Amino acid sequence: MSRVYNFSAGPAVLPEAVLREAADEMLDYRGCGMSVMEMSHRSKDFEDILHDAESVLRELMSIPDNYKVLFLQGGASQQFAAVPMNLMRNRVADYIITGQWAKKAASEAELFGKVNRIASSADKTFSYIPDCEDLPVSEDADYVYICQNNTIYGTRYPKLPNTKGKLLVADVSSMFLSEPIDVEKYGVIYAGVQKNAGPAGLVVSIIREDLITDEVLPGTPTMLKWKTQADADSLYNTPNCYAIYICGKVFHWVKDMGGLSAMKERNEKKARLLYDFLDGSELFRGTVEKESRSLMNVPFVTGNEDLDKEFIAEAAKAGFKNLKGHRTVGGMRASIYNAMPYEGVEALVGFMKDFEARH
Ligand SMILES: *Cc1c(COP(=O)(O)O)cnc(C)c1O
Repeated sequence: MSRVYNFSAGPAVLPEAVLREAADEMLDYRGCGMSVMEMSHRSKDFEDILHDAESVLRELMSIPDNYKVLFLQGGASQQFAAVPMNLMRNRVADYIITGQWAKKAASEAELFGKVNRIASSADKTFSYIPDCEDLPVSEDADYVYICQNNTIYGTRYPKLPNTKGKLLVADVSSMFLSEPIDVEKYGVIYAGVQKNAGPAGLVVSIIREDLITDEVLPGTPTMLKWKTQADADSLYNTPNCYAIYICGKVFHWVKDMGGLSAMKERNEKKARLLYDFLDGSELFRGTVEKESRSLMNVPFVTGNEDLDKEFIAEAAKAGFKNLKGHRTVGGMRASIYNAMPYEGVEALVGFMKDFEARH
């Protein structure tokens, strides 16, 4: 068996220790004689898995008691609809457009109400985060929406927007558990877990309790109503049991690594190594303005599309996989999530130096 350095944006690298543990437990989960995939979601064993995952996550993120943690299906994209369905009382919401995912979320919300795009970085292909200190926040907005780390463009909010008292809703999919965040600053935080925490198909939503009500838009499907899921403790129907189980292990792994502050330090060290190389390189350059750089997704180019292709192909041969940029932007992108070790980034930079010397 040999493992590669996987720089995929998602589904993405997971901690090897977690995969090994899951492999060990595959046929017989802790003496119960069956796999987690084979057990009832109403069994004591699974309830323990679910409650343990939630309690470790609460501890890691210091989630206050007045926030619910929901383990839902449909990925992050399903929340693009759930957010307006559950929060639009006035049928008005403000969206800050910093890339594809924010754009998609805004279009989805438009199915249900009026969407004001109060800021955008589309003018420079989303290579920066706009100044969000004094935005024209709508008086009757039910919430202000952001995508806090933009997976495709490699940007991250250097600080949260001034929402002028309005509720903040954030998609944190590609920065989930990569650094501490202050949960109380948000009404709703959600993350598709396949970027930084587990297998695809599961989304973790952290929602302030007073926002979980029966007052949803008419026609909201039962499954998309947060209250249905909250009342049933994420067990209204059969959840994505196996993904919850893997996420629980990843949460424990993050805790064993020292928690979110330690994770941030580790991630900053990895990102610095790559960005410093890009800033000094004669061949490669990063595509994002410095203050807006993501710790997780690092897009870069050579400036020559053929050379980009050559680099991606040679890198793949050398064991550095999935470095191709998103199909809408081209170039390269290295996603260096929590589970990417420092040595992986070091090896990549070594390979890039060598490639540069040869070109
Ligand atoms: C990947 C991603 C999504 C989409 O996630 P799905 O689980 O595929 O719906 C949404 N937002 C961000 C920021 C992402 O990185």
